[in-house]
Amino acid sequence: MSAKDKIIRLPNKHLRQRSRRVGLVDPAIQKIIQDMTDATLDWEDSRAHELGVALAAIQIDQPLRIVIIRNNFDNKSDRTFQVFINPEITKYEGDVVEDFEGCLSIADIYGKVPRHEKVRVKALNAQGKPLRLTAKGFLARVFQHEIDHNNGIVFIDHIKDNQDAFYKLQEDGQLTPLDYDKDIRTNSLLW
Ligand SMILES: [Zn+2]
Repeated sequence: MSAKDKIIRLPNKHLRQRSRRVGLVDPAIQKIIQDMTDATLDWEDSRAHELGVALAAIQIDQPLRIVIIRNNFDNKSDRTFQVFINPEITKYEGDVVEDFEGCLSIADIYGKVPRHEKVRVKALNAQGKPLRLTAKGFLARVFQHEIDHNNGIVFIDHIKDNQDAFYKLQEDGQLTPLDYDKDIRTNSLLW
C-alpha cells in the first residue's frame, strides 16, 4: 500500500464526522502527522497539475483535530509543512470572496467556494506549544477548508445549492463547468 492510499474520499461517511481534540502530543500523534505528510506528498507525486496544499487527519481516517499546511504554495520543491493541532478560528475578517478549491478527498471536482479573506487562528504547534496567527488570502482559505474537515464539513457542502459553482479538472489541467443535475445533484459518490 502506498502512502496516498490512506486518503479516504467521498462517499466515505467518516469525512462528515467531527474529529476530537488532541490531548498530549505524544509519539502516536507524531506518527499520524508523519503519515499525513507522506500521504499528501505521495498523492501530489501521482497528480500532474496539482499541489498537495494541506491535509486534515480525518482524511487519512484519523478523527483527530490535526491539520498540516504547506509552507510554500509557490515552490513545489519545498516539501515541508507546518502543523496545527486543535486549530480554531477566533475571528473572521474582511470580505467574503469566491475562489476555486479542490480536496484530496474529492477526486477531480473543484468548486468556487465563498470564504472570508482573513482569519485569526489559534492552535498548538507540533511540539504542543500554543501559537496564534493571522492568515490572509489563499492561506486564510486553506485554514477555513481544513478546519471545516475537523468539523465534518467538506467544501461541496458550502456550494450545494449553487448550480454554477462546480468544475471538473481535465487531463490537461483546465477546469471546465460541470452539469449540476447530471454530475452533482444526484451523484451518489458525493452525498
Ligand atoms: Zn479537503
